[in-house]
Amino acid sequence: MAFFMDLDMISLCILGGIFMCLLGFVGFYKSSLKIKRESNRGSMETRRSESVKNSENCECRPETGGDPEIIIVGAGVAGSALACTLAKDGRRVLVIERDLSEQDRIVGELLQPGGYLKLIELGLEDCVDGIDAQRVFGYALFKDGKSTRLSYPLKGLSLDISGRSFHNGRFIQRMREKAATFPNVRLEQGTVTSLIEEEGTVKGVKYKTTNGQDLRAFAPLTIVCDGCFSNLRRSLCKPKVDIPSCFVALILKNCDLPYPNHGHVILANPSPILLYKISSTEVRCLVDIPGQKLPSISSGEMSSYLKTMVAPQMPRELYNTFMSAIDEGNIRSMPNRSMPAAPHPTPGALLLGDAFNMRHPLTGGGMTVALSDIVVLRDLLRNLRNLNDAYALCKYLESFYTLRKPVSSTINTLAGALYKVFSASPDRARIELRQACFEYLSLGGMFSNGPIALLSGLNPRPLSLVLHFFAVAIYGVGSLLLPFPSPNRAWIGARLISDASSIIFPIIKAEGVRQMFFPATVPAYYRAPPAN
Ligand SMILES: Cc1cc2nc3c(=O)[nH]c(=O)nc-3n(C[C@H](O)[C@H](O)[C@H](O)COP(=O)(O)OP(=O)(O)OC[C@H]3O[C@@H](n4cnc5c(N)ncnc54)[C@H](O)[C@@H]3O)c2cc1C
Repeated sequence: MAFFMDLDMISLCILGGIFMCLLGFVGFYKSSLKIKRESNRGSMETRRSESVKNSENCECRPETGGDPEIIIVGAGVAGSALACTLAKDGRRVLVIERDLSEQDRIVGELLQPGGYLKLIELGLEDCVDGIDAQRVFGYALFKDGKSTRLSYPLKGLSLDISGRSFHNGRFIQRMREKAATFPNVRLEQGTVTSLIEEEGTVKGVKYKTTNGQDLRAFAPLTIVCDGCFSNLRRSLCKPKVDIPSCFVALILKNCDLPYPNHGHVILANPSPILLYKISSTEVRCLVDIPGQKLPSISSGEMSSYLKTMVAPQMPRELYNTFMSAIDEGNIRSMPNRSMPAAPHPTPGALLLGDAFNMRHPLTGGGMTVALSDIVVLRDLLRNLRNLNDAYALCKYLESFYTLRKPVSSTINTLAGALYKVFSASPDRARIELRQACFEYLSLGGMFSNGPIALLSGLNPRPLSLVLHFFAVAIYGVGSLLLPFPSPNRAWIGARLISDASSIIFPIIKAEGVRQMFFPATVPAYYRAPPAN
């Protein structure tokens, strides 16, 4: 197996190398022409969602057809979207959520256009209406006082298609409300404490209600969507969670961003800063701090870090508002986790959302992956009338892990790679790689459209990702060597290529080379539904 993976990797490198060289040099040629030309010229309405029906209401609602077919643990982004989707297909669903009230969270606030397309596929696009969501048409990238606009390639798509940014709690509440309107969905408030397993098959869950009652629920299939802090994933996979950094979050009030309706990424030191509007009056600011140890918020260390280290790197027009946001004191933080999907097929259960797979949130891809996974799962489950044969169902659902790969692996790999490239480093090769990335994206045309189409989930093709990634590296080498190469510059160029490889290949390996690039060669790809 490892041998085949290595062969895949080698053939991929050779094939890709040829394309990347071409792309890199075309990019470099274009930029040198541009430089030459330039030098010649002279040098909610804050609508709070109505609170979702509480558990008593849910229990009162008539439930058609008896016991649930599917239990969903957690009604966050994945769980609530999944509940609506399965309910539409006529499944009897029991959703158990720890807290049904609207949450004030700092995660999942920018939905990429690719995710919005998935929302449409699931018939949930109205869940971003009426929550003061802001349309997002692309990104603006800032480095050393320069900036460049990277527009989503939306040409040819319907006018409604774009990214959306919002208060995550409002979005989830809209989906919960929608789920609660289906007579075949029961939404209960309770904390799932464990899975009920009999002879290797998950039969249901044990949970604690808000009034302290210990209950059990049974169903042929349990889908665990309990998020990034999942307690239950350990029973279903061997998680390898990495925490490369934390996001420190602030809200900037009543200010405009330099590029309206765009996410802003500042290539700051030591790592990137993100800004995007989450309502008509609020801008979310996420400051990345590498590692897991943060300056203390309560002792004021964090405020002084933000004022002295971060504020001077903010775009000038946002400096004052940023300082006021620090003084207001509502500073929060979240660890940025990354975890490759580790499928461990278990009869009777499935993991979904962040409980199953996480990536660095720099590129805002988590919700897009979760929604895309739900589309894949829905299409698979649609082929089945009953879910009672746990072993046959488990075998059939193995194809899920391969079918999801083009979207999930592209978004995951890009997030991990871009985080490393965008972070500052004292190493000369890494400095050149970061600069090359900024310049490559600034070239416009296919040099920005390609990468931004990958990031937005509009064109999730792993091969295109690898090609652009190495084209950036080759562009960087070109910038180093031309017009006057020297042995030292050649050495830095060689290290740049080696660094780029050491960034992307481990991520690809964790994603699974074969599933990512040759999914059709994986036997599970062709699983037929069990006859029932
Ligand atoms: C700082 C940060 C910023 C991010 N920004 C973005 C972004 O801009 N765009 C984007 O697409 N993604 C972003 N993400 C990722 C995104 O938030 C997740 O991918 C997404 O929320 C995953 O949805 P989920 O349903 O798996 O988890 P969640 O949305 O977290 O939902 C989990 C739910 O399970 C419930 N729960 C937990 N345990 C139990 C239990 N034992 N019993 C019952 N219920 C339980 C919780 O209450 C919660 O409602 C960000 C992540 C981080 C860390």
